[in-house]
Amino acid sequence: MSDETPTPPTSPSDESPSAFRPRSLRELVDYVSGRHLQGTYQDGELGIADQPPFPFLAMVGQREMKLALLLSLINPALGGVLLVGPRGTGKTTAVRSLSDLLPEVPRSLCDYGCLPEDIETGGIDAVCAECAKKYGMGDPIAVMDKVRLIELPVNSRLDDVVGSLDERAAGSGLFHIRRGILSQADRNLLYIDETNLLPDEIVDAILDASAQGHYTVRRGPIMSTYNSRFVLIGSMNPEEGNLRSQIMDRFGLRLIVQGLTHLDERLEAYRRVHAYKYNPRQMATAYEPVTEIARDEIQTARTLLPEVQLPDSVAQMGLELVRQMKIDSLRAEITMFEAARGYAAADNRLEVNPDDLRQVAPMALRLRRSAFMNQYFENQLHEETQLQTLLAQVIP
Ligand SMILES: [Zn+2]
Repeated sequence: MSDETPTPPTSPSDESPSAFRPRSLRELVDYVSGRHLQGTYQDGELGIADQPPFPFLAMVGQREMKLALLLSLINPALGGVLLVGPRGTGKTTAVRSLSDLLPEVPRSLCDYGCLPEDIETGGIDAVCAECAKKYGMGDPIAVMDKVRLIELPVNSRLDDVVGSLDERAAGSGLFHIRRGILSQADRNLLYIDETNLLPDEIVDAILDASAQGHYTVRRGPIMSTYNSRFVLIGSMNPEEGNLRSQIMDRFGLRLIVQGLTHLDERLEAYRRVHAYKYNPRQMATAYEPVTEIARDEIQTARTLLPEVQLPDSVAQMGLELVRQMKIDSLRAEITMFEAARGYAAADNRLEVNPDDLRQVAPMALRLRRSAFMNQYFENQLHEETQLQTLLAQVIP
């Protein structure tokens, strides 16, 4: 390495990043999480127009946040990710950095969003007539395409989100609905910064569309239904207001993102941000080899995922955690088990083990306990006991 080249952190054995071959994505995350910091950065040139994002793997520390975001790429069924923490802790940077790692998915060639997997699960009637015909003739109804990162702008209106009547078209007597952000988010990642500051009607529309996988817009004389199967990633700063508990429950994994505490980590983070600001392209190039490995590993893990099994013995440990934590929402275990399956896939295994559960359980279970509901049930139990005693006395 010459002095001019910003170098990614070296592993304990001082391998160069291009020589480093992890056994799995799990190893890669540990490798890049910044435990072994080294490398100096020189100022490069300013003024590069088309700026690549800060490399995901160049983020120092924050292992849990990185793990959660990677798991959401591997297994969209875990139900999204909520990042909770103060400003300046790298939440938005981490999410935007994902754009270099996004996998490929089958994308429909028709307006209704028909996919081959719809036929596999629901038969030929599960797609539109046009696609059924194509499928029957052996023509493709979808093509492989990279998942996109769609950011919901902070000042979005409900019409921007769900869609609205195209006024220019309406003037000519032809009614047409302009597609909203939600329909564009189908099969993609939808990122909402400052989730807690969005108006309730918008949050409700997003959560309903996300839960059902499709939604219907009625505007004027017309009505359209769109697919909306996306991974929701939200971030919020609790100093700026709370999230309604109903909304909080809808996010799968929950992360408390705090600032780096070790001084050497903070120094390394500063150096990398500085190097990136002066020459984003050089930084991206330096990280390209590990980024490429990670991209391949994510794609491999996604292919493996449908085969990953959750043994009953491990599932019972998970349910015991939920019981002892006094969590009511079924989303707790759904998220925990789906995340554990993703974690096993990231480690190239076909069976979830107790350690996978240990790694993902805190992310799936924290911020789910409701003090209000626990008190409510306790009061209810008291009343129920009284009622039963009374029944035994009055009606012998
Ligand atoms: Zn179709």
